[in-house]
Amino acid sequence: MGADRVVLDLEGLQQLFDRLVKQGYDLVGPTVREEAIVYDHVRTVADLPVGWTDEQEGGSYRLKKSDDERVFNYAVGPQSWKRFLFPPIVRLWQADRKKNTETVKDMHQAKRYAFIGVRSCEIHAIAIQDKVFLKGEYVDSEYKARRESALIVAVNCSHASSNCFCASMQTGPKATFGYDLALTEVTANGSHYFLVDVGSERGASLVDLIPHRTVTEVESRAADQVSEAVRISKVLDTTDIKGLLYRNYENPRWIEVANRCLTCGNCTLVCPTCFCNTVYEVTELAGRHAERWRRWDSCFNVEFSYIHGGSIRSSPMSRYRQWMTHKLGTWIHQFGTSGCVGCGRCITWCPVGIDITEESRAIRENEKSMVQTGGMQVPNA
Ligand code: SF4
Ligand code: SF4
Repeated sequence: MGADRVVLDLEGLQQLFDRLVKQGYDLVGPTVREEAIVYDHVRTVADLPVGWTDEQEGGSYRLKKSDDERVFNYAVGPQSWKRFLFPPIVRLWQADRKKNTETVKDMHQAKRYAFIGVRSCEIHAIAIQDKVFLKGEYVDSEYKARRESALIVAVNCSHASSNCFCASMQTGPKATFGYDLALTEVTANGSHYFLVDVGSERGASLVDLIPHRTVTEVESRAADQVSEAVRISKVLDTTDIKGLLYRNYENPRWIEVANRCLTCGNCTLVCPTCFCNTVYEVTELAGRHAERWRRWDSCFNVEFSYIHGGSIRSSPMSRYRQWMTHKLGTWIHQFGTSGCVGCGRCITWCPVGIDITEESRAIRENEKSMVQTGGMQVPNA
């Protein structure tokens, strides 16, 4: 491998894109669409959200023009990379009846993606989905085909939204693993460049093919200060969080949050680690053709937990409790890691602004007061 750190200018970034396209990658990166920053096909640096930033609160997301021409000056938007690695809907196989029954299996024609602008919390989220889809007893071949060929160009965060809490989950704001290249965007004294950390042989050979220069000590320090300067104000206390949630199935806070929750499932759809899905068949009426599809589902849907004769989570309270307890507690038991990377999407995109950090804090405080008063508190007491 060549140098671990080099510098690219904007033209160099464009040449990186050109080189990736030449090598057959399908470039996916952040772009502005319908007043949000979404992940879509990009081809040039101009397709990226140049000069845009965002403001996020509970249940609120706004784009606004920033006062400079930075390319990656925003926090994560509504989409995550799971929509490419684990697409919202996919045909698993199809079968045609001819003279003799013949099954035509869909071959996984996964695209060779190059993901541009992957944040540290998102790399952690991908690693979590890797555990789910690749490292258990059954390997998901659909996911595997997409994941193995994906190239990751990370971006170290220079801006956190008020809903980010990656510091609490130890998932950001600086990428530490899981990338081929990691960019830090620096604007200082009229210059605008990207410091590139090389994370793999594949990344190193790419860098060798594009114009770059050696990094100076001053530039290296300036890049390190970018992530160090990010202020993350939201906190989730993870102390014994699994034990806390296991002890509090009957905490009255679940009733309070259920009164606000619309069970719309937004939080699960925007979450980069949620993986619930459903599989169903469609058959042509004449019986000559059948297909099996998989699409995202959500534990907030009543049908999701339907078991011969009824749903086992019929109340909104039981569905919210299941989601949060799984995310922060039983996920650790199941996969050895939290199911939450602190990206804050579920807070921003919840139509009523329910905040997983506030809910967890309220349960902790309720538990304390229950211990002090020796009994159950009524909601809002
Ligand atoms: S917590 Fe918010 S986003 Fe999630 S299901 Fe309830 S209302 Fe919808
Ligand atoms: S639970 Fe919320 S904050 Fe945590 S990873 Fe999912 S969307 Fe992000």
